[in-house]
Amino acid sequence: MTIGYLYVTRSEIDGVLYVGQSSKTDADSVANYLGSGDYFKQAIAEHGVENFTKTVLGHFDDQAALDFAEIHAIARLRADGHQLLNAGVGGPRTQREFIRAMFQRFGVLPQMPSAWLQAIDENPQEVRDLVAAGADVSTEDFYREYEAQLRQTQDLSRDCPRCGAAVDDVCRTRTGNPSKNHVGRLAPA
Ligand SMILES: [Zn+2]
Repeated sequence: MTIGYLYVTRSEIDGVLYVGQSSKTDADSVANYLGSGDYFKQAIAEHGVENFTKTVLGHFDDQAALDFAEIHAIARLRADGHQLLNAGVGGPRTQREFIRAMFQRFGVLPQMPSAWLQAIDENPQEVRDLVAAGADVSTEDFYREYEAQLRQTQDLSRDCPRCGAAVDDVCRTRTGNPSKNHVGRLAPA
């Protein structure tokens, strides 16, 4: 049974790509959902939805296979010189752990696109194992990773009037978990 699919969305304006995966496999979602991600959403806002073309790359029966396919597609496109709007390398949400494991095992980093792709191409089973290990993390580890990502992607230069987060602290949900900036955090005081 299909649990999700992999797709690439292309801007007809400047050719930049966004690779993503989705578990919403109904025809309407497949036809209309273009992708998420902070950089990608900015590009959509700038270029307009009508200037993006989405191509489905494949359907998958399990999450590990889908994660691996996403990592591989992003690696291949970057090694081929394409510009991607993806902030990360794809795959499990705990990407820092995965990237660290890739470096320990193969001495490669995402910033070395050819070597990164080569390591994946030459060691598919080992990389799948690393992906599976990265996907199988505790909620606590996930939120720690998520908070680190938010520190990179969110503008924390003002405090948040909604949740009270101070400058340099991420926004938090009512249950105390890290979240993206609340609406209004960056509005002029
Ligand atoms: Zn907030």
